[in-house]
Amino acid sequence: MDVKAMPKGEPSVALPLCLNCAEYIRATDVPCPHCTQDPTKPGGRYKEDGFYARDALENLLDAMERAATKQT
Ligand SMILES: [Zn+2]
Repeated sequence: MDVKAMPKGEPSVALPLCLNCAEYIRATDVPCPHCTQDPTKPGGRYKEDGFYARDALENLLDAMERAATKQT
């Protein structure tokens, strides 16, 4: 198989999660097509299933890493 002859793929699109039902949506989907709520406001399953806490932890770890990088 000649790899060079194969068509090049497009980069995949990163889909954000709805902050209410935690389903993947397009960034332009307002309201959310799954739960019909505002996908930018945390609530519902997103909050109850720990997605919100995980995001908060990731943001905290990012901030700590940036602060540690600045000090060195
Ligand atoms: Zn939703």
